[in-house]
Amino acid sequence: MIKITKFGGSSVATAEQFRKVKAIIDADPGRNFVVVSAAGKRFADDNKVTDLLYLVCAHREYHVDATDLLRDVEERFLAIRGELGLAFPVAEKFAEFMSHIESDSEEYIVSRGEWFTAHLMAEYLGLPFVDAADVVTFHHDGTLNEELTDEHIKALVRRGTGFVLPGFYGATRDDEIKLMTRGGGDITGSLLARALNADLYENWTDVSGFLSADPRIVDGPRTIDRITFDEMRELSYMGASVLHEDAIFPVREANIPIQILNTNDPSARGTTIRERVEHRADDPVVTGIAGKRGFLSVYVDKTHLSNEIGVLRRVLAVFERYGVSVEHLPTGIDSFSVVVSAADVKTSIYSIVRDIKEELHPDDVKVNEGLALISVVGRNMSRRPGTAGKMLSTLGEGDINVRMISQSSQEINIIVGVDEDDFEASVRRIYNAFVREED
Ligand code: ASP
Repeated sequence: MIKITKFGGSSVATAEQFRKVKAIIDADPGRNFVVVSAAGKRFADDNKVTDLLYLVCAHREYHVDATDLLRDVEERFLAIRGELGLAFPVAEKFAEFMSHIESDSEEYIVSRGEWFTAHLMAEYLGLPFVDAADVVTFHHDGTLNEELTDEHIKALVRRGTGFVLPGFYGATRDDEIKLMTRGGGDITGSLLARALNADLYENWTDVSGFLSADPRIVDGPRTIDRITFDEMRELSYMGASVLHEDAIFPVREANIPIQILNTNDPSARGTTIRERVEHRADDPVVTGIAGKRGFLSVYVDKTHLSNEIGVLRRVLAVFERYGVSVEHLPTGIDSFSVVVSAADVKTSIYSIVRDIKEELHPDDVKVNEGLALISVVGRNMSRRPGTAGKMLSTLGEGDINVRMISQSSQEINIIVGVDEDDFEASVRRIYNAFVREED
């Protein structure tokens, strides 16, 4: 059984966290491939090493001395080394790093967070350190060269078993360090899992899995036990995230499940994400609920619209011209609405409305601001008729006006649009009607 284990920043923030990681690795002989993030927050308002390093770069840009910040970063690694009695020469390597920092790229500087953390972890676990710069390969445009990365990993494994790999960065063929987007260590783990055809990708974080609703809105939401990749994407898209969005693609292709686990509570079952989840009689109808404020809809009304050909295409072309991505497009017979993120049209909304008027000569165009969207996700919804009805009546009973409703074609989610002021009450009502009721 091959397991890839990836530990996020808070799981490697202190010597104490390192000990928990070691206990987890030692508990299972299948756990030989370890990916780490840079040391993260030790307490709520602490700084992540990655953030400090970005800050170092900002100082450098404005010619402000960053020595104190760099000392803080070094201190973090020295403390872990000291407490765990490790030999890795942190002070020496850090002095060397600082000696050429003026000429290093931002990506190189930031990547050192994972580099130092992985060196310390490798020694502590008694596994070899493998530099991601030699393995994870990027094209010059900053996109991943997945084939070459795959080849490198496979070659590495043929030479021996087990290693610790820093997440989040890699290099071009000319040894120029490149970073993934924030939280990218999840992607490194996923690439490793696919290349090794792992049985499981364990993603260790500081939460016991994926919650079925935002705990800031719903009291003690239940943890999702099993979820499909599609469901997860729907929920992540709406802001519920414990995993980098792009991390699911490599493992998904290879049909490798991801398990979200908690370093601080390793016996909790966490959440398993896989392509297909076997149906069980006690499965909930709704897997999870997520939502966001900050949308608006552009309502267009024109008599005999339904007989005109190409209307939607022309309207979509207007949005395209302004570089705005369209979230939803609920249509009626003589009207339709285009739902977009309010931030995306902040400076262009008047021009968009003007262009729509010019091109379509509609009877009416209205911008309705203050829209919140809630995505109610569940692979089992399609099996249960009446789900949408129940949701609408629940909201109706709470005197909540539903401004739009739309269902994805796979029928794994229903999206409702409500006033931003009704957002939290709506989430709570839907949660209580579908999830709480089943507990
Ligand atoms: N250390 C990086 C970040 O803070 C990447 C990661 O944690 O995966 O975004």
